[in-house]
Amino acid sequence: MISRKHRNGSVIVVGGGPAGLTAAIALAESGIETVLAGKRPSPSDNRTTALLGGSVTALATLGVWPLCEHQAAPLKVMRLVDDTGRLWRAPEVKFSAGEIGLGTFGYNIENQHLLAALSQRAGALPALRIVEDEATAIEPGADAVAVTVNSGETFEASLAIGADGRRSLCRKAAGIHLDDRSYKQVALTLCFAHSRPHHDTSTEFHTADGPFTVVPLPGRRSSLVWVLDPYDADDIGVLDDDELSAEIERHSHSILGKITVEPGRGRFPLSIATAHRFAARRIALIGEAAHVIPPIGAQGLNLGLRDAAAIAELAIAAGRDGGDMGGDPVLAAYDKMRRSDVAGRTLTVDLLGRSLLSDFLPLQGARGLGLYLLDRVGPLRRAVMREGVAPSAAQPRLMRGEAL
Ligand SMILES: Cc1cc2nc3c(=O)[nH]c(=O)nc-3n(C[C@H](O)[C@H](O)[C@H](O)COP(=O)(O)OP(=O)(O)OC[C@H]3O[C@@H](n4cnc5c(N)ncnc54)[C@H](O)[C@@H]3O)c2cc1C
Repeated sequence: MISRKHRNGSVIVVGGGPAGLTAAIALAESGIETVLAGKRPSPSDNRTTALLGGSVTALATLGVWPLCEHQAAPLKVMRLVDDTGRLWRAPEVKFSAGEIGLGTFGYNIENQHLLAALSQRAGALPALRIVEDEATAIEPGADAVAVTVNSGETFEASLAIGADGRRSLCRKAAGIHLDDRSYKQVALTLCFAHSRPHHDTSTEFHTADGPFTVVPLPGRRSSLVWVLDPYDADDIGVLDDDELSAEIERHSHSILGKITVEPGRGRFPLSIATAHRFAARRIALIGEAAHVIPPIGAQGLNLGLRDAAAIAELAIAAGRDGGDMGGDPVLAAYDKMRRSDVAGRTLTVDLLGRSLLSDFLPLQGARGLGLYLLDRVGPLRRAVMREGVAPSAAQPRLMRGEAL
């Protein structure tokens, strides 16, 4: 195992969220000696993740998907409904996977089940050592990067992967700046049972406060991401379960029938952020350490998994050729590979989010026109669907089902 002494061809991943676990599994599966340093993610995360096409393929290729597939619900139809009540309302847009020859766009799964499957797979890989501790110091050097954890133990490796979330210590150690803007909104999250079937359909109601999105789970259950002004979220937060169930039924126009909320409510302040660079000084940033976007269109972790797959692919290739896994060519190639995918999705999500909240009529009009065109122009709609599932920016090999 890597400890204190630098080992060429080794990697340390900081952060055991879904992005970090995926990177560690991808590396260790290929026999790269890997340390994953991070506390177990909170079991109280009651969010779900809509994993789109390539993400599911990657998890299947890594042997993770068979461990949690039965806990996921297919996403066959995605509806966008203008519920702003404004003068310029957009038509409803319906994306059907069948229209582009797919059985599903992807699957929705509770984060706790996804994390359990990732942890189970990680625990079965001999090349992966899991250190359930927090990194307290990260020191990049000329030949190696050293990561010290709370217990005092220090690990040295050729490359550190910063998967340590929004307040990334790795990002600071790499000297990378972040463009960060608060949305002044929060997302309330919970799961609920309902009396009518969801027909594998997610529905995003666009309200003047932000999106109210219901996403299918197995059986007659769904998850909710409700974006609100923080003061409104305070008012909603004090409702008891019966009152909240009735309120959700009202907001969802009873499309799912009678609602019964399940225990556990989450509250997430929303922001948008992109790191100026995705890698420097033997440190590559992935997931929310590199970019944060609001939960519109289910893109955040799908981007994070593509980051994980990309850095693993590049590091493994460099290691195979006898090169330096954390050297500048690998870091530059990683930044280049991820830049346009992240920038494109961040811009789209930001524009959509802002146009919803804005009282500026031309912006509302532009949004309405965009959705009108999506509704009416089949080729445009199909192009948008294909881009959502399989981005035109270079897809990492794992997303194409190729082992590394
Ligand atoms: C309401 C909501 C709904 C969402 N829905 C979707 C969706 O449907 N689809 C989608 O693709 N995305 C979705 N997202 C985005 C998705 O949740 C995030 O992209 C994802 O959780 C980020 O994963 P991560 O591994 O990068 O970071 P995190 O999950 O934040 O993990 C970071 C980990 O690093 C650890 N850590 C931090 N500092 C240190 C340290 N110093 N040492 C060691 N460990 C450390 C933390 O404890 C944590 O476990 C949603 C987000 C929100 C807020």
